[in-house]
Amino acid sequence: MKETGPLNAILEIKGLKAYYETIKGYVKAVDDVSLRIKSKTAVGLVGESGCGKTTLALAVTRLLPSNGRVLGGSIFFNGKDILSISEEEFRKEYRWKKISMVFQGAMNALNPVYRIGDQIAEAIIRHENVSKDEALERAKKLLSLVGIDPKRAKSYPHELSGGMKQRTMIAMALACNPEFLIADEPTTALDVIVQAQVLKLIKSLQQELGLTLMLITHDLSVVAEICDYAAVMYAGKLVESADIVTIYKNPLHPYTKGLVNAFPSIRGEKKQLVSIPGAPPNLLNPPSGCRFHPRCPYAMEICRREEPELVKVDGDHQVACHLVSR
Ligand code: SF4
Repeated sequence: MKETGPLNAILEIKGLKAYYETIKGYVKAVDDVSLRIKSKTAVGLVGESGCGKTTLALAVTRLLPSNGRVLGGSIFFNGKDILSISEEEFRKEYRWKKISMVFQGAMNALNPVYRIGDQIAEAIIRHENVSKDEALERAKKLLSLVGIDPKRAKSYPHELSGGMKQRTMIAMALACNPEFLIADEPTTALDVIVQAQVLKLIKSLQQELGLTLMLITHDLSVVAEICDYAAVMYAGKLVESADIVTIYKNPLHPYTKGLVNAFPSIRGEKKQLVSIPGAPPNLLNPPSGCRFHPRCPYAMEICRREEPELVKVDGDHQVACHLVSR
């Protein structure tokens, strides 16, 4: 697959294959994906559950579960191939220090028996040579940065609302001043008002701290809210990527069009929302040719036989569909 995305990349993924080994064979969760993410931008990685978004993020942070295998490709961070270095070097130099992650379901990730200030301080002490007092001071500043009164550093997780827990997890992810933040479905368990507040916070932190953000979500409206670019994944493949306006105004891949049509708008004409028929395929035995063909209203004979290549349409806009590449 060709390289995709803007130049001046902080993260460059080339032909990545991240599979899960099972007794029935390999689940091809990320299958030959290439993606470039420009420094200090916000990129939304979008797609239905099970399309490989989280696996891609876990491969970047080298946190795949024990049956996860990277069977091909490379990941460059600021030009350094981070899959070829030792786990020791990655843990010391990259994970949390340069590349950090807010995990899915993070609100349940706080330790219930430790005060939140201590938990953030511990993350700092693990990666930096600082005293406990210094780390606690930094933890308070981080809490303040995410809009929590520093006095709450003495609170236990059960004393916080859902939104405050999520803010605490974001503070923890920022503890070692990373350059690159991955947020995996950071607002899924929150109500819409708190969701909007947390998204606003993530966007303002990204801009204030000059972070590069990879936001993983199944919700295109979340991407519209805070991202500059969108990369759409389907069944382990990258099917379209472009700046956010192009994705909304001129989506070319039928799957992206389906996502956009399923997205309600409070402005403009009222329109009927259309869901994408069918379900994503089993990635143990993905469909031949284009993996979207069993659900695609435009599927042709070639789609069942040949996998479409990702082709550049215009600027940063890239699409993998025979309708475009014919
Ligand atoms: Fe549909 Fe064919 Fe395009 Fe796949 S390649 S999205 S099946 S038209």
